[in-house]
Amino acid sequence: MAEPKENVLMEKIVSLCKRRGFVFQSSEIYGGINGFWDYGPLGAELKRNVKETWWNTMIRQREDVAGLEATIIMSPKIWEASGHVSTFSDPMIDCKTCKGRFRADQTDEIPCPQKPSKCVNECHGEKTAPRAFNLMFQTYVGPVQDDSAVAYLRPETAQAIFAQFKNVMETSRQKVPFGIAQIGKAFRNEVTPRNYTFRSREFEQMELEFFIKPDEAIEAIHGSVATVPPTGHPGEPQPNWGWQAWHQYWVEERVRYYEGIGLSRQTLGFHIQTPEELAHYARATVDILYKFPFSKRDEKGELKGEELEGIAARSDFDLSQHARFSGKPMGVFDEELRGAWGKLPKEKQDDLWRRYYENRKKYLEKSGVETELASKQATEDANGLAKGQYIPHVIEPSAGVDRLILALIANAYTEETKTDDKGKSETTVVMKFHPRVAPIKVAVLPLLKNKPELVAKAREVYDLVRTQMNSFYDDAGSIGRRYARQDEAGTPYCVTIDFETLGEKPELLNTVTIRHRDDGKQERLPIGDLAAWLLARVR
Ligand code: ATP
Repeated sequence: MAEPKENVLMEKIVSLCKRRGFVFQSSEIYGGINGFWDYGPLGAELKRNVKETWWNTMIRQREDVAGLEATIIMSPKIWEASGHVSTFSDPMIDCKTCKGRFRADQTDEIPCPQKPSKCVNECHGEKTAPRAFNLMFQTYVGPVQDDSAVAYLRPETAQAIFAQFKNVMETSRQKVPFGIAQIGKAFRNEVTPRNYTFRSREFEQMELEFFIKPDEAIEAIHGSVATVPPTGHPGEPQPNWGWQAWHQYWVEERVRYYEGIGLSRQTLGFHIQTPEELAHYARATVDILYKFPFSKRDEKGELKGEELEGIAARSDFDLSQHARFSGKPMGVFDEELRGAWGKLPKEKQDDLWRRYYENRKKYLEKSGVETELASKQATEDANGLAKGQYIPHVIEPSAGVDRLILALIANAYTEETKTDDKGKSETTVVMKFHPRVAPIKVAVLPLLKNKPELVAKAREVYDLVRTQMNSFYDDAGSIGRRYARQDEAGTPYCVTIDFETLGEKPELLNTVTIRHRDDGKQERLPIGDLAAWLLARVR
């Protein structure tokens, strides 16, 4: 259970978010709706910046990833193929006394004395046996509300990527290994939304599906699959990388991304899924955690952290499922593999053929295909490998936008207490966002509001910077108060226009003061250099 001190911190964060317009309860004037949150003016900017940094890092700055923007409602067949219709459920229990409804695997926060039944609202009532509750929101497409019109709001963005795999590969002229990435809304009818925005019913995901060659193909082409040290970044991608190296690469790339927007490694944690936790088709999954104030503690009293992102090596499960359910081929032809296969000694060919056959057969049997048919299909697949054909495997880094926003807010939240000359002390909040994600990049402040020359010059500077980045103009109140307001919003730079800007000291004509949020330091800069100076720091 979280320490009371940390609950107080969470309360302060929630209150600041409301007061400053980061996050509001959805439909607040009607009493709210559980599990839904709106982003206010500062939150909307923060979210936009986060998505932009992800899109830039994952797509624009790479040559091997293409973007996609798919619809939220898709053919319901997609969710049959993905397994969501049959298995995307949480165990739910009801309390017969208070009528509360809980997730059976998440009721241990406030243990009920009447174990084994537990109840998060401390009611001691008798509980029903757990039953599966499908988390997908259901709707109807078209005017007739019958079974044939049932559709779902997507519970993840990933499936659209698999369904459009062929179209994207062909139009972007990519070859395996390559990735397809998407940002978008996802919906899950969570049994118990909680921890503020952490577990919501409507949220956003940023997902990459990175398609790679099966290890058998790598071995056929390169003689062996590269081995990489078990920890640390394995360096620039190499042609002989198998799934392990790619998986490790993406875990480390994602950590670098988080570091690049202000979440240091110490604030993150890792959870390597155990064989029992892994899905039958998954080879490995590493969850990147953030140590939230509400996270549980380990035996040593350290915060354990909650999942920000999962990076899964999902084998060829997803494309195989869509190939089976749609009847459309999802495999690729690999010229290099075909060429290499013919040059392999017979025993190597047989060894690779057998291993590929076994993997395919295992997948087919686990997916419910009866043994004889599975053997026949796996034989065809292994024969295909020998001709240069395979279904790509996939590494999936899947992150939640809203969880990251909450992590950035919690990470930025800092209280500073200052004591003035008269011994009076005041505590203020400084939101120490990384300049890349900060909602407002720069505030432009005339020293005094009632001096038209200062105001005119300040408006001129504001007009100059606002075309380049999100900027804010403020002339209300003392300069100290205005700095404090920007500190609370997390604005990294404040630019003040004073009499020196107007030429009171001729050598300082057309220069401004830049005040740094985190240490209060000030420096002077010519107006002509200002935009470039700021852009170098906020991008
Ligand atoms: P959890 O175990 O916390 O329910 P998950 O393992 O089901 O999460 P995934 O299906 O792997 O989550 O989804 C990928 C990412 O989407 C998660 O790492 C998380 O950041 C985000 N996400 C998932 N469910 C929610 C939710 N209800 N609210 C906000 N973000 C979510």
